[in-house]
Amino acid sequence: MTGATDRTTRHKRAMQRKKAHVDERIAAATEDRGLLLVLTGNGKGKSSSAFGMLARSVGHGLRCAVVQFIKGTWECGEQLLFEGNPLVEFHVMGTGFTWETQDRQTDIAAAEAAWNKAEAILSDEATDLVILDELTYMLTYGYLDKPQVLQALRERPPRQHVVITGRNAGRELLEMADTVSEVKDVRHAFNHGVMAQKGLDY
Ligand code: ATP
Ligand code: MG
Repeated sequence: MTGATDRTTRHKRAMQRKKAHVDERIAAATEDRGLLLVLTGNGKGKSSSAFGMLARSVGHGLRCAVVQFIKGTWECGEQLLFEGNPLVEFHVMGTGFTWETQDRQTDIAAAEAAWNKAEAILSDEATDLVILDELTYMLTYGYLDKPQVLQALRERPPRQHVVITGRNAGRELLEMADTVSEVKDVRHAFNHGVMAQKGLDY
């Protein structure tokens, strides 16, 4: 047997083993229900991942809703793309929290107004996917009542998916979530003097 055929044979065997293993795991995943996903960590990729799932869901004709808990400084591409789409209900916190505001009372009022929208969506069975973008900050800063937020998440329709993004997700949220990803910051161009790029950052 030549080296090349030997390698081909070994590769084939390894792939057969891998396929058997993957098939077994697929067969074991029989539950079908609404999931809570938390995307946290200091690296770039949390909101863009959430909007990737929004794109997937819209592609499948699912009904979606987005509540953004930080007032955008720029108009985000995802908002421009999905706003006006009949499958997507889009709410951006109109006033209040950006990195620039320092008025706690204004921030709290804005957070509560956005949360009221979120709470209504979380009790609507017709909404398949809910994105609560940057929600974690509202809890870290104590702008929203944590038990109330957790309760609304817990009592949502059983088939509704929720994606929460933001740094420093708290312990309760992490424990409640079905899927948690922590995006690690290895390097970000912004910290090396590159301005935010249209299409990549907003
Ligand atoms: P994205 O929306 O690009 O997926 P994100 O949701 O993971 O980013 P946020 O903390 O919400 O991250 O920050 C939003 C903005 O800040 C984006 O423009 C993003 O590129 C930038 N950003 C994210 N992480 C970092 C970082 N570690 N250093 C510098 N800028 C960052
Ligand atoms: Mg984000």
